[in-house]
Amino acid sequence: MFRTGNTRGGSETLGNDAQVGVVGLGYVGLPTAVCFAAKGIPTIGVDVDDARVAKIAKGNTPIMEPRLPNLLSKTLRSGRLRVESSYDALSEADICFVTVGTPASRDGTIDLSHVNRAARSIGKILRHSRYKTVVIKSTVIPGTTGGIVKSAIESESHKSLGDFGLASNPEFLREGHSVEDTLRPDRIVIGACDKESERTLDSFYRRLYERLPKTILTTPVNAELIKYASNSFLATKITFINEFANLCAKIPGADVSVVARGIGLDKRIAPSFLRAGLGFGGSCLPKDLQALLKVAAKANAKLGVAAAARAGNERQVPVAVQLAERLIGSLEGKRIAILGLAFKPDSDDMREAVSLRLIDELKRRDAKVVAYDPAAIPNARKVLGETIDYRSSATACLRGADCCIMVTEWKEFSKLHPKHFEATMRTPAVVDGRRILDPEEFTGSGVRFAAIGLGQSI
Ligand code: NAD
Repeated sequence: MFRTGNTRGGSETLGNDAQVGVVGLGYVGLPTAVCFAAKGIPTIGVDVDDARVAKIAKGNTPIMEPRLPNLLSKTLRSGRLRVESSYDALSEADICFVTVGTPASRDGTIDLSHVNRAARSIGKILRHSRYKTVVIKSTVIPGTTGGIVKSAIESESHKSLGDFGLASNPEFLREGHSVEDTLRPDRIVIGACDKESERTLDSFYRRLYERLPKTILTTPVNAELIKYASNSFLATKITFINEFANLCAKIPGADVSVVARGIGLDKRIAPSFLRAGLGFGGSCLPKDLQALLKVAAKANAKLGVAAAARAGNERQVPVAVQLAERLIGSLEGKRIAILGLAFKPDSDDMREAVSLRLIDELKRRDAKVVAYDPAAIPNARKVLGETIDYRSSATACLRGADCCIMVTEWKEFSKLHPKHFEATMRTPAVVDGRRILDPEEFTGSGVRFAAIGLGQSI
């Protein structure tokens, strides 16, 4: 059972047939809607992209996400999940979760236009429908929920906060694990603008999870800040280990992956986000760091560590290119096999993928690029067109290549052994940009091998 207030200041317990809406069915919204429905909550997903909605309604997922296709079919079949392109479908919803995109504007500040439009559309529906709690899951800069979102809903609904509920409830799921993370999150952060929304969300999550994850109840501004602090801390860990990797590379016998394991065993540090590599990409860390730095600059506050994490990240792609040059000399006219295009494994997401910057660098050196990715080629084609050659398997990608660069740590690439490279490549040379191969296997093999954070053997 979860509660909401349907009169100003009042509250009422809702039955198990209470409905939730999820607005924006992308990498966050679709798994969220599907998981809510899978847990038995009648869920209406709304997206302004008609083609996307039509595809989802037929049981086809527009994104690659493990476990999602199966759960989507089940929840659609059971009738627990409905998807629509009209906001009218939300008139019966009790809670509306907003999961629309918040990309970077041209100047690096956050683009809140999708959030603003979604809030206005919900406001229009609220004008003629019952009390709703509006919940902002999208990543937004501090002050957005209680600022432009509240104003947009109030002006379109002709109602005031209290006639509707409002909260920030940032999302922390990881692409590639979004079903698992939605079903079993580490924590829940609720920053409600009003007490009633806090109670509604608290009881909603108590109903969703048999054991309520650790929950923080706070103000909207703190909730919004927690999301940015989280992402900038994770980015900092990545850049920290990458800088350390570049030091290890200069010390004979050093290996950053051993150093990372050693420090990760310290509970105060923890092992995740300590894999040295080509740096971070994706739809969140780069744009969130950028937006945060803009917010800090406007507030006249210095976030030197976050700024350094961002700047350090820019230096990793050139490191991989230099390693390739160390192995095979000039890259001009050479065929470089790129294994992995997606910004991370188990995802087809190409937004801000490191592969794009690497390909740019390689093209600038007049190298010929061939690439393989188990899932992201259709999305890569949308960005890169036919400027590179695509292959349908790792073996086909390696065939005739002069150097291979490991870019995304898909599990199937970690199973490659020196003999695979020797049997297929013209000049077997490998740069492990994600530290997924065992350097010892390459010692004494016919493959020239280099890896991020690996000092020359003594
Ligand atoms: P996305 O681009 O994959 O999906 C956004 C969806 O919203 C699209 O399907 C789009 O058509 C739809 N949309 C846009 N405007 C709309 C409107 N006015 N009404 C209804 N639908 C609309 O974005 P995403 O990756 O799912 O990210 C959503 C938010 O969650 C962002 O703020 C992001 O920073 C945050 N976030 C993302 C992740 C992640 O791993 N992708 C993790 C945590 C938080």
